[in-house]
Amino acid sequence: MRWDILLNTIDKLDFKIISSIDGAKKIIIPADISTNIEICVLHLPYRFPSNVICVSSQLGCPYKCIFCRNGHRKFYRNLTTQEIIYQVDLAYNMFSKTEFNSFDVTYMGVGEPLNNLDSVLNSIEILFKEYPNLNKVNISTIGLRNIRSLFINSFKGLIHLQFSMHSPFNRERDFLFNSKLPDIDFILSELDSFANQMEDIPCINYLLFSNFNDTTIHANELIKILRGRKYYVKISNYNKIENSDLFPSHNSKKDKFISILKNDGLFVKSFISYGRDIEAGCGQMVSDKII
Ligand code: SF4
Repeated sequence: MRWDILLNTIDKLDFKIISSIDGAKKIIIPADISTNIEICVLHLPYRFPSNVICVSSQLGCPYKCIFCRNGHRKFYRNLTTQEIIYQVDLAYNMFSKTEFNSFDVTYMGVGEPLNNLDSVLNSIEILFKEYPNLNKVNISTIGLRNIRSLFINSFKGLIHLQFSMHSPFNRERDFLFNSKLPDIDFILSELDSFANQMEDIPCINYLLFSNFNDTTIHANELIKILRGRKYYVKISNYNKIENSDLFPSHNSKKDKFISILKNDGLFVKSFISYGRDIEAGCGQMVSDKII
């Protein structure tokens, strides 16, 4: 491996692979003394490219989002550029090349990618050089002030941005993310600029929590703030975690929420997390050694 000399803290011989009934795989690499780096490999037949490697950008997470397992655990450190690339190398080499004729890398595992910007940007640059069949990089953020750092001409059309909004009301976002994040208006105006300059159609991620953000009032407010914008909205049900008083919405509420948005002309995708049975779904991956 190219990075063997640099990766002193990773135990490359001792990684584990866990498979889900839906075909997702989780790779767990021991790192440092009491932590793991988790990677998820997905085959999503409904999209192109169907192969997706979901990498972690940090060991633990400094944010305390109440709906995410990492929000209830310790932050250890940022991952290095090499450690991020190694995750892709490992996942990629584990599958036959025909399976990986084209693939995406998503920065949606453990950590907030915009909180480890240098390593994330360096790794993106290297990955596009090393993997000609890398189609696109997806970055999912809770909405930090430095989104503009992703406006890089050489990445035009190559980075897809996803904003985890989860509520159209700032006060509810402060509660869910357990911190004072930049206002929604500011993030949406940055997304507008990103869409124009970087030739992207950004995604608004919206997790549905029962009787919290799944009401008609929320759907109508979402319509109000997104109307006229060239985004799409990805609606997912929350994956229940321990230590949280939040619950997933009922499917009938999800359907109703989606139909309100669609009836007003928003482009909406309904998403079901893959790999939930191996704790590789949204908000389930962690760095602590709990397996
Ligand atoms: S949702 Fe993202 S930013 Fe929030 S705790 Fe989880 S990994 Fe960190």
